Amino acid sequence: MTIADEKVDFGSMRPAETAVVVGGGVAGMQAALDIADQGYQVVLVEKTPSIGGVMAMLDKTFPTLDCSACILTPRLSQVSRHPNIKLLTYSEIKGISGEAGNFRVQVLKKARRVLEDKCSGCGDCVPHCPVQVRNEFDQNLGYRKAIYIGFPQNTPLVYTIDKDNCIKCELCVKSCQRDAIDLSMEDEQLEIPAGAIVIATGYELFDVSQYHRLGYGRFKNVINALEYERIINAAGPTGGKLMRLSDGKIPKSIGFIQCVGARDVQKGVPYCSRVCCMYGIKNAVMSKELQHDIVKNVTVYYADIRAYGKGFEEFYTMAKERFGIKFIRGRVGEVSEDSKTKNVKIWAENTETGEFLKQEHELLVLCPGILPPKGLKELADYVGLEVSVDGFIPIQYPASNPVDTAVPGVYVAGCAESAKDIPDSVAAGSAAAMRASITLAQGGEQ
Ligand SMILES: Cc1cc2nc3c(=O)[nH]c(=O)nc-3n(C[C@H](O)[C@H](O)[C@H](O)COP(=O)(O)OP(=O)(O)OC[C@H]3O[C@@H](n4cnc5c(N)ncnc54)[C@H](O)[C@@H]3O)c2cc1C
Repeated sequence: MTIADEKVDFGSMRPAETAVVVGGGVAGMQAALDIADQGYQVVLVEKTPSIGGVMAMLDKTFPTLDCSACILTPRLSQVSRHPNIKLLTYSEIKGISGEAGNFRVQVLKKARRVLEDKCSGCGDCVPHCPVQVRNEFDQNLGYRKAIYIGFPQNTPLVYTIDKDNCIKCELCVKSCQRDAIDLSMEDEQLEIPAGAIVIATGYELFDVSQYHRLGYGRFKNVINALEYERIINAAGPTGGKLMRLSDGKIPKSIGFIQCVGARDVQKGVPYCSRVCCMYGIKNAVMSKELQHDIVKNVTVYYADIRAYGKGFEEFYTMAKERFGIKFIRGRVGEVSEDSKTKNVKIWAENTETGEFLKQEHELLVLCPGILPPKGLKELADYVGLEVSVDGFIPIQYPASNPVDTAVPGVYVAGCAESAKDIPDSVAAGSAAAMRASITLAQGGEQ
C-alpha cells in the first residue's frame, strides 16, 4: 500500500505544519519532497490522474541524453511513499482564502470511479473495457481504454474511469477481483488548512496550428516536438520506432523548425521559451542515434541558437560535428505537401547567405514555445496575485527572492514562473520548499 491509498482526514491537518503544493511535475515533486524531508506535512495537488508532468512524457534529456524515465521513476516512487506527503491526484483547486500561516485551500477531488485503497493497478479490467479512445499522454497518437492509466509508472498506480467515454457496461466491475470499481462514486470537496503554498503548475505548449502556413493539422507528416518525443519513446505509441504518420515509414530526411510560437510579438509570445533550441537539437541528434543508417539528412531551421546552459554549447557542436546535423538560420516561409509521396516541401530564406531555399523532408517537426497553463490566472486570483504580462506567475524581487511572489506565504517553482529546463525547475522547487518551510517554522512570518 502506498501513502496515496491512505484515508486522510485533511480537515484535521494543522496549518502551521502543512504546505500545499499545486502541480505534480518535476518542480512540484521536488518542492514536496524537500518540505516533507524537513518534517512538515505536504498535500500535493495534481489535476491529472498521475504526478510526473511533462518529464514523464520525454524520451531522453539534454544535454546528457539520460533516459528521462530512469531519472523520474525513482522520484515518483519517493513522493508516493513519503510518509509526510499526501497525494491528491485528479484534483483541482477551487478557492484559497486566508493568509501566510493560515490558508484554507478548497480542493475538488474528482471521482475516479476506482477505489484508491482497493485498486492494485493489476490492469485485469482493461481488456474487458470495450471503449477505445485516444491517449492524451501519448499526445493522442495512441489509444487507451475508458478505464486507464496514462503510462506504466502512473503514480499512484490506480486506474481511472473517464466518465465522458464510459458507457457503463459494467464489464470492468465484473472483472475486478478486488471490487475496486464503483461507478456511482461522486466528486468530493475538501478543505485543506495550510501555512504555505507552492505554485508549480508548469506550462502548456503553443498550439502550432496557429501558423497555418506551417501545415500542422493539414499535413500528416508535420508534427510537434512532444509528439516526436512520444514517437521515439520505447513506451510510446510506436514502441519507440521512429516513423512518420502517413505510412509508418522511417523518414530518410527530417526537418526541425525552431521558435514556433516564441519570440513572435504578433502571436502574443514575445519572449524566448529557453528550452526549445536544446530540445530541438536533442531530438535532431536522437533521430540520428536511433536510425543513423536510414536517416541521412537532418536539418534544423533556427532564428538564433541559444545554448546558454552548462554543456549546451558543447552539445550543439557535437550535433554538428559528430552527427552531421545541418543548421540553417532562417525562418521558414511556407510549407506544402507532395500529394503523392506525402513529403513536406519547405520554402525558406537562409538569412546568413541571403539564399532562397526549397527543401524537401519526409517528416517535419515543429518546436513549439511554452505558454502558461490554462487555469493559472484563476489560481493566481485565488491567492490575490495578478499574472505578469506574459501570463506566468510574477516574482516580486527576482534578484533577491527568486521564488517569492508578492503574496506572503505563496511561492512559485518551475515553469509556472517562466520557461525553464528540468535542472532549473528542480532548483526552483528546492528553493520554494526552503522558503515555504521558513514560513511554516515562523508561523506565517517571513
Ligand atoms: C518537447 C520538449 C522536450 C523537452 N526536453 C527537455 C530536456 O531534454 N531536458 C530538459 O531539461 N527540459 C526539457 N524540456 C522542458 C521540461 O519539460 C520542463 O523543464 C519541465 O517539465 C518543467 O517542470 P514543471 O514541473 O515546472 O512543469 P510540468 O512538467 O508542466 O508539470 C506541471 C504539473 O502541474 C500540473 N498542473 C497544471 N495546472 C494545474 C492546476 N491548476 N492544479 C493542479 N495541477 C496542475 C500539470 O498537470 C503537471 O503535472 C522539454 C520540453 C518540451 C516541450
